[in-house]
Amino acid sequence: MYTMDHVPSYIALYEQGILNELAEKLDGMLYSCELCPRKCRVDRHASRDGYCRSGVDPVVSSAQPHFGEEPPLVGSRGSGTIFFTNCNLGCVFCQNYDISHAGHGKTISALDLASLMLNLQARGCLNINTVTPTHMIFSIVKALIYAVPRGLSIPLVYNSGGYDSVETLEMIEDVFDIYMPDFKYFRNGSGEKFSDAADYADVARAAVREMYRQAGDLKTDQRGAAYRGLIVRHLVLPGAMEETIQVIDFIADLSRGIYFNLMDQYRPEYHAREYPSLRRRVTMDEFRRALNHTAGRGMVPAG
Ligand code: SF4
Repeated sequence: MYTMDHVPSYIALYEQGILNELAEKLDGMLYSCELCPRKCRVDRHASRDGYCRSGVDPVVSSAQPHFGEEPPLVGSRGSGTIFFTNCNLGCVFCQNYDISHAGHGKTISALDLASLMLNLQARGCLNINTVTPTHMIFSIVKALIYAVPRGLSIPLVYNSGGYDSVETLEMIEDVFDIYMPDFKYFRNGSGEKFSDAADYADVARAAVREMYRQAGDLKTDQRGAAYRGLIVRHLVLPGAMEETIQVIDFIADLSRGIYFNLMDQYRPEYHAREYPSLRRRVTMDEFRRALNHTAGRGMVPAG
């Protein structure tokens, strides 16, 4: 399936006993959770009082092959997508609010999570794509400890909203092969207004730099399947072209080998209509300008 060069990095962490140490450390951190920049310091073994309203066990809304992801993640059998319920952001235009805000999903154990991963691999998925993994990182590491000896061997994707702390990312280095954060805004003011995160832009810039340090440019095998690297997504918002250009420039300055996905599918969902600038979709002209700027900076626009 994979050549020796493409073996997911979590396998070596398992063989060296590092995943066990990491799981123990992460479990301890849940007694006063600072896993993400919210730093709620709540005891997740005893309550769900943190911003993400999550305890220890994962709540999963779905686990299935997904064909709408970026082509290097999909192939012919799909990306093995596991959607975790709840989120550490409060985006007013959330496109998955039933999962991320209404909390729809089923509570499972880390052992169940391992079985979901193995089932997706057995169905031929190219990777395990963990969606909103930030608050569930302990369970993901624990699941790997169960899944690796049972044969899990496909890349693991960290698909987040970009609101990730560098300290946690450093701790989990090499657990994930592919990072795929959103980069929503370049200005903290926009993060405060639209995602309830006044430091979003600063956090996302630092997180994307750290993810790039760990994973580097996106690498694909002879089938065109991604096995390591960084994919950054940016949803173009109506009337926010200046910030979109700043995001594109930031990524291009970091590396033109980053797979950059400019997305045009913004719709005024959830609470978006309460914000005048968010009441419409992005125009073709706006999106074309963003695409042209991406190409002008030497990146292949993937949107
Ligand atoms: S993971 Fe959840 S509880 Fe922990 S700091 Fe982030 S939002 Fe708060």
